[in-house]
Amino acid sequence: MTIFRTRRQFLGASASLAVAASLGAITRPTHAAADAAENIQAQSLAPGFTLLSGAGCNVLALASPEGTLMVDGGFQRHSARLLAAVARATGSRKVNTLINTHWHPAQTGSNETLGRQGAQIIAHEITQLYLARAVASVDYTGLYGPLAEKGRPRITTRTTGSLQFAGRRVDYGYLPAAHTNGDLYVHFPDANLLVAGGPVCSDSWPLLDWRNGAWLGGLAKAHEKLVAMVKPETRIIPSHGPMIDGATLARHHRMYADFHEKMVVFQNRGYDSGDCIAQRPLREHEAIFGDPAAFITGSLQSLNLAYSPD
Ligand SMILES: [Zn+2]
Repeated sequence: MTIFRTRRQFLGASASLAVAASLGAITRPTHAAADAAENIQAQSLAPGFTLLSGAGCNVLALASPEGTLMVDGGFQRHSARLLAAVARATGSRKVNTLINTHWHPAQTGSNETLGRQGAQIIAHEITQLYLARAVASVDYTGLYGPLAEKGRPRITTRTTGSLQFAGRRVDYGYLPAAHTNGDLYVHFPDANLLVAGGPVCSDSWPLLDWRNGAWLGGLAKAHEKLVAMVKPETRIIPSHGPMIDGATLARHHRMYADFHEKMVVFQNRGYDSGDCIAQRPLREHEAIFGDPAAFITGSLQSLNLAYSPD
């Protein structure tokens, strides 16, 4: 008989048992609307930079004479169309560098193809670890991974890293416990452009993968960190939705910080998720971000895991 020493261990183990019955298929992508697009849309942002949408998440491509740098790779089922669109936009079929902002399927679906073709793949060290095993998540049903060895990141960071590409500086860094347990931002300071990764969504509520380390405090802290990095006019690519600027990101930060404070009060009152939803703590933001019920429920789950004594 298995003994669970802590509530957290019990929750993790029972969740793993539940997914064991439905091995394999990922049937419920959270951002279903983003996944539904038939065509990949390409938008030129600056010389060399192209934003691609419609593959499951926003993807950035930066062209160079030696090949292309991509940030994120869409779902695997869209990868061939995405890579064809990247080749059209950059004039090169070769992708020599891929940065994964995190390990979710919407970001890592081109890893195996590009890794086999020789691209170097960069990610947070937790992303590397998670792509080497089968993982359950509140982002999907079933399990994801492991990816073939060539599709896994070889270059990792625990904190920050930097490289030069096409004569530009590319800085990347860790956003702890914000959306998963291994989120990176990717900053192009010369171009005044930031790929924010999973924590930032511009027209929907972000997912908190609370089964894999994310919590509401981490989401708010990630916004604080990103706001400190950018200028009001910096262009910011969210994981989902249209680009925003630094001033808008600062408003998002205040929204999440205020919401975090409200949720801690609700939690201390012993509210369940239905009680929290009934208070409509995000009512003035619903017109932009939509129904917050799932986000509120996930936020409470994340707070309960973060604050409950083990
Ligand atoms: Zn994600």
